[in-house]
Amino acid sequence: MTAGVKHGLSFDIECYNQIISKDFLHRIVEPLEESERNTNWILDLLAKTGRKATFFFLGNMARKFPELVKRAVDDGHEIGVHGDAHRYIHRMTRDEFSNELDVAIDSVEQAGGARVVGHRAPAFSIVRENLWALDVIAERGLLYDSSIFPFKGRRYGIPDWQLEPSLLKNNLWEIPMSINETWFGRLPCMGGGYFRCFPYAYTRYSANALAAAGRNGVTYFHPHEFDHANARFPDGARAQLGGKDKLRLTILNTLQSRGRRTMRQKLERFLGEFDTVPISGLLPENALKRIR
Ligand SMILES: [Zn+2]
Repeated sequence: MTAGVKHGLSFDIECYNQIISKDFLHRIVEPLEESERNTNWILDLLAKTGRKATFFFLGNMARKFPELVKRAVDDGHEIGVHGDAHRYIHRMTRDEFSNELDVAIDSVEQAGGARVVGHRAPAFSIVRENLWALDVIAERGLLYDSSIFPFKGRRYGIPDWQLEPSLLKNNLWEIPMSINETWFGRLPCMGGGYFRCFPYAYTRYSANALAAAGRNGVTYFHPHEFDHANARFPDGARAQLGGKDKLRLTILNTLQSRGRRTMRQKLERFLGEFDTVPISGLLPENALKRIR
């Protein structure tokens, strides 16, 4: 372990089947039991290893599985929100986002009996065009947002956003996602598909490179990534999709299935090699007074 550097550990708690149903069939369905089972596996691992993390819950997950939020709180984890039904903020008006955020925060706080302190946008959907979302989050009194990817992605990212956490004018902290600065540009690392699909050596290299630069990484994982079963078409989806969407979903499911079988061991290995803290642990000590 690199002395003194701790990386942020976080989980976006959602149901893959539900997101696919919303995105491809435009239908909101209930989260499946498997999302609860996989989240409990994460909670078991953290209990075993004595690590504390941040859990960004979807509001609808909190309503369907309130005991999951309660367990995360009782186990001493930090609680955040990840939207209510995983709608993308860049496709919402300010009013729609405000209303949805209120519902999500209320559902998660009711279920857990603890305060929501952070926000992670679904699919990192805070971009240059909707930075107003950060004001909406600040108005709710949250301590931080952790949604901006400082690189040029196909669907997300703000390429010139600063790499360190920063206190915004609205009194909200932004804790950006992690990227590696390499000789051929900024490359994302430390979470999701970047952790799952690339060899573990890439994550280890990235975590060490960040530490050497005096920066803390921000990891993020999803319950379905730890499921040994491959990503599936939601029931009946295939038959209802046109050719182009069918192909898109096939590609997405293939990518989402990649690396799942070794994902549990990879996370265990990462926790064995690197020190971690909940996301608020990446902020200066005096910033935390607001949540104590
Ligand atoms: Zn998500």
